[in-house]
Amino acid sequence: MITDSFGRAFPYLRLSLTEACNFRCTYCLPDGYKKTAPHDFLTVQETVHLAQAFVRLGVQKIRLTGGEPSLRRDLPTIAAAISSLPGLSTLAMTTNGYNLKSMAKAYVQCGINALNVSIDSLDPKKFELITGHNKLHMVLDGLDAARAEGIHRLKINCVMLKGLNDDEWPSFLAFVRNQKISLRFIELMRTGENAEYFARHHYSASEIERRLVREGFHLKPRGPNDGPAKEYVSPDFKGSIGIIAPYSRDFCTTCNRLRVTARGQLRLCLFGEFGHDLRPLLMHHHQQAELMTTIRRLLAGKSAAHQLQNGVTGLTPHLASIGG
Ligand code: SAM
Ligand code: SF4
Repeated sequence: MITDSFGRAFPYLRLSLTEACNFRCTYCLPDGYKKTAPHDFLTVQETVHLAQAFVRLGVQKIRLTGGEPSLRRDLPTIAAAISSLPGLSTLAMTTNGYNLKSMAKAYVQCGINALNVSIDSLDPKKFELITGHNKLHMVLDGLDAARAEGIHRLKINCVMLKGLNDDEWPSFLAFVRNQKISLRFIELMRTGENAEYFARHHYSASEIERRLVREGFHLKPRGPNDGPAKEYVSPDFKGSIGIIAPYSRDFCTTCNRLRVTARGQLRLCLFGEFGHDLRPLLMHHHQQAELMTTIRRLLAGKSAAHQLQNGVTGLTPHLASIGG
């Protein structure tokens, strides 16, 4: 397993397939996706070379993300090739769920075995206000379709937003009371383009945790391979609630993931100042050894922690550019 100079191991790669998105989430792409450069995203072959090198370096889980990964027409081909790599146990995807109902079967067939679906509100009107689309029912139908096709590792991502969805506690709790699902509250992160929005809508993760404890939830002990999410459970609820708290002190010490953008830049930190271009090493299979050596060398330079709490958002204008 690859490790950095602080002894952190990296079994998990987040691989962005595209920067494009069909939603207009107010904290991410409020004006919709604007094409600012040609869509020269990694090809199927380049993506497979990249994934193969990371798997050989000990990565066991790859998450396909974006932008909206389901907008890539060749997604099933990419997923089928990656999921068959020996040593990979989980091929996950994070999606806004727009295409989930029609694509659930195809996802299973190409080896996707875990899904995170983003749902910021369970109220159709608010869902539309936040995402720009009146599609909550379609996304919820997509979840049912995924379950029916046998994907049981399902998580819901929900960005908690002051003044927008923080009054939805009763519905969020009802959602996890009787179904075995993990609802993950993500603390809004400040990015290069959302400073004003952040100031208005940031809701602290510690407040979410206090509310959960008041509702009778308790923190599940961390497993040895767990990442930064904290998982809360309660005997009265079949589902669980995860908290992603990027501003908390111990967030970076539990970092277990690397990221590669849709154009093949390795990002050692979500909020780092630099990307490292791996694309020149993705052309041929015989470049694998050099690619693996390069990744190992770059990882040695990963810093201990981000500086997000000091307003340093790094290269990231919005999370659609890197995949969250
Ligand atoms: N389009 C897909 C989706 O929305 O699920 C995948 C990409 S999206 C960038 C990945 C996750 O990042 C989503 O759950 C989204 O809600 C979250 N996200 C985007 N911008 C964020 C921000 N500024 N703070 C916290 N989470 C954010
Ligand atoms: Fe698109 Fe996901 Fe960003 Fe929403 S959060 S705009 S769905 S990339």
